Amino acid sequence: MKKIPLFDNQGKVRFLLGIAEDITERKQLEEKLLQSQKMEAIGQLAGGVAHDFNNILMVILGYGSILVNEETLPERQKEQVEQIMNAADKAAKLTSDLLAFSRKQVIKPATMDLNDIILHVEKFLSRIIGEDVQLRARLTPRELQVDVDRGQIEQVLINLATNARDAMPKGGLLTIETSAQRIDEAFAQANGIGVPGPYAVISISDTGAGMDEQTRRRIFEPFFTTKEVGKGTGLGMSIVYGIIQQHSGFVNVYSEPGLGTTFRIYLPFSEQSAEAALEPEVAVAPPGGTETILVVEDEPDLRLLLQNILSGAGYRVLLAENGQVAADLYAARAGEIALVLMDMIMPGMSGKEACHVIRAVDPAAKVLYTSGYTMDIIKSRDLLDEGTELLMKPVRPVELLKKVREMLDR
Ligand code: ADP
Ligand code: MG
Repeated sequence: MKKIPLFDNQGKVRFLLGIAEDITERKQLEEKLLQSQKMEAIGQLAGGVAHDFNNILMVILGYGSILVNEETLPERQKEQVEQIMNAADKAAKLTSDLLAFSRKQVIKPATMDLNDIILHVEKFLSRIIGEDVQLRARLTPRELQVDVDRGQIEQVLINLATNARDAMPKGGLLTIETSAQRIDEAFAQANGIGVPGPYAVISISDTGAGMDEQTRRRIFEPFFTTKEVGKGTGLGMSIVYGIIQQHSGFVNVYSEPGLGTTFRIYLPFSEQSAEAALEPEVAVAPPGGTETILVVEDEPDLRLLLQNILSGAGYRVLLAENGQVAADLYAARAGEIALVLMDMIMPGMSGKEACHVIRAVDPAAKVLYTSGYTMDIIKSRDLLDEGTELLMKPVRPVELLKKVREMLDR
């Protein structure tokens, strides 16, 4: 930051002329790096402890079994040793969970169709979630060849289903979807994750309690739990994280309190099938324009990204950080704004409510929603208004620009 004083006639400093550099993006990248370094460090620590602990447990279990088999040992003592062994067994289960998180477990990958794995565990998953929760699977007809350890991916699905059940004590809907998606450079950079290329995607959505921002930031930490003592170990999500990392994939979470949760798991396509399975995107320049677009998004990272994509294609962009600001802005400059691009779920005034206020000003206002939830959840909650459209997060730049142009040309 540089400051230059400007003097008045008496030679006194009257103004300061300043130059500042916008470091928002750098700060955001730093934060992401920090988060992944933190997970790495926790993983190493947990792995180290688990490894040593395993050896100690072997000693306890070893001598325990010798003692139990000792003929001269009175019955009462035998029972007590058995209690010790039971506890040690539980501890062994915990350490093996910790090892899974810290990626010290060996994986045995084989090439297989991700859809097959899901079909295989579907029955088991419905047993986990119980009768009150409905399970819906929507699998893409496309083959999703990935190099994975089947048992580990099943473990991921089981952990996610268990959490979904806990989040829906009164019942609800659990949706599992699969799809193929090409991660491009822009997406990888914007999210600070992944290597560009074709990925198989599993989306798992529940209609449960959801979580706030604070909880969401911590769910992958080992031993982080919001459940009462005895109910949660806080290891489920850290195991999911560890397994997916080990498969060179990544996990995204979308959630709002009271509105349910969607996890998206990205696994790279198998080398052999990658190119055959997913045609590379033709490098046509996405369509642009010069109209004014109002972007409404509460998450600063995303707001910046959307602004960059749209202004990069020539559009004028107005920004609002919530529904109320958007509604006010629209009322003040209605004639100018050709399209409203709006997050569906925001704190305070929701997208739907803001849309109603905007449509009171101009009934023909064009509104394009973005949301991290799956279509199922949105339809079941009646969040989509007549004449509005929806793009799924993470929004891909090319798709966004195509949809925007299409709506503007209507
Ligand atoms: P545990 O289930 O033992 O608490 P996890 O690592 O599986 O540990 O999850 C950590 C925390 O993440 C949970 O306590 C809960 O607060 C939150 N969480 C995970 N999945 C969901 C979900 N589907 N809905 C709401 N909260 C969830
Ligand atoms: Mg859990």
